[in-house]
Amino acid sequence: CGIVAYIGNKQAYPIVVKGLKRLEYRGYDSSGVALIDGNQLNIYKKKGKVSELEAIMADKPTTSTVGIGHTRWATHGEPNDRNAHPHFSNDHSLAIIHNGIIENYGAIKQNLLKKGHQFASDTDTEVLIHFIEEIRKETGENLEGAVRIALKEIVGAYAIVILDRDAPQQLIAARKGSPLVIGLGVDEFFFASDATPIIEYTKDVVYLDDYQVAMVRDNKLTISDLDNLPTIPYIQKLEMEL
Ligand code: GLU
Repeated sequence: CGIVAYIGNKQAYPIVVKGLKRLEYRGYDSSGVALIDGNQLNIYKKKGKVSELEAIMADKPTTSTVGIGHTRWATHGEPNDRNAHPHFSNDHSLAIIHNGIIENYGAIKQNLLKKGHQFASDTDTEVLIHFIEEIRKETGENLEGAVRIALKEIVGAYAIVILDRDAPQQLIAARKGSPLVIGLGVDEFFFASDATPIIEYTKDVVYLDDYQVAMVRDNKLTISDLDNLPTIPYIQKLEMEL
């Protein structure tokens, strides 16, 4: 339903949670964030309002300068803490947030179960991140390459953002059929499902197109398609008011 992510030189958590509140008007049943703490990737999530997430966050480490957050409107799996996003990969090194529906998740999940994957939720989203993880392992591709291969196999709609514990200077995002906008600040980048969480920080935005993969790494944005052909990001000026 709602996506907010941040990477830059500020603390991500306050920006992400404020953004999630700006997206509350869309409706949702749960919310969550993923943050880095040292060499740990932590996910915190809660059924109910964003304010309930904030309550459990009160005593958690929030110094991370990269973070992803989500408000969920359940399509696969009942609304509860477990099914809230973000979701971990099997080895807990990757976290994903996702808007949309992965229609062919059932067959992919059966295959992954045979390969020893264990699932912590009933969602289509968790299957997608395990699938990406498995492809990376089997092909030896980097994460971005594995994302491309996975998305070619996926039937459905998605806007996704992925955080990698082992590459905290990087966020990877992609979309098909579900909107995703990237805000370009000074030494910082914002990802969101619409511009409302971004407008107070920057007016320079790039709207991702279907079948595009966006990567911010070491303070640089690159956009390419599922065949890894690069495109020059088209930067637009937001005209909306706060
Ligand atoms: N299909 C996903 C789920 O049910 C994402 C729903 C959404 O767009 O919030 O968890």
